[in-house]
Amino acid sequence: MNNIVAEPIMVMPVERKDGTYALRLCLNQGQLTAGMMKTVMETMVKFNLTSLRATTGQRMNLEGIPKDKLGEVIESIGTAVEKAPPGVSVCTGAGICKYGVQESRSMGDKVLAAVKQNGPYPFKVKSGVSGCKISCGLSFVRDIGLVGTPKGWDVHFGGAATKNAGLGVQIGTKVSEEEALDLVGKALRFYKENGRKRERTSGMLRRLGADAVLEALK
Ligand code: SF4
Repeated sequence: MNNIVAEPIMVMPVERKDGTYALRLCLNQGQLTAGMMKTVMETMVKFNLTSLRATTGQRMNLEGIPKDKLGEVIESIGTAVEKAPPGVSVCTGAGICKYGVQESRSMGDKVLAAVKQNGPYPFKVKSGVSGCKISCGLSFVRDIGLVGTPKGWDVHFGGAATKNAGLGVQIGTKVSEEEALDLVGKALRFYKENGRKRERTSGMLRRLGADAVLEALK
């Protein structure tokens, strides 16, 4: 690791029940570079931190930071933000996975850019991109979900994996990448304009009705 340059990481502090803090590493698609790993490793050694755990959202939490050391640990690792930027669950896709029929990683970056570009929203937006219908990126139960097919992308909107779990509506079938991203942008803007405060896309879909939403997104 001697020739690897430590890279700063954006983190979000999260208070825990026992009064300690975790720092959520704001990673994209769960990727840690060698430089980021060096930063994390050096910080863990310096502050005697022993737990780094994956989150369900393809990020990492550095756990067990005493409150009085929080500032120093943040300084050691990078910069702190109050709210982590939106993330997207992305599977390995056709570039790597033998079942994959569409390349999900680059599409994941484009979906994330669309989410950032069209906000702010009434509540959180979770997205998922999967390279095939096995849907390892949880696309069917995400606010925005893309599923690769041999002939293009299926685009889903308004799914949820909450206590009111359910599928969204399919707003695009076997469309090109460009068409899929166009639909994603339209759906996000519709949510921004029609969702109520703290209402997820799934709640909005139930309130307005799937037919009305589909009609509006034509
Ligand atoms: S969704 Fe399909 S392409 Fe993606 S990891 Fe799962 S099996 Fe592979």
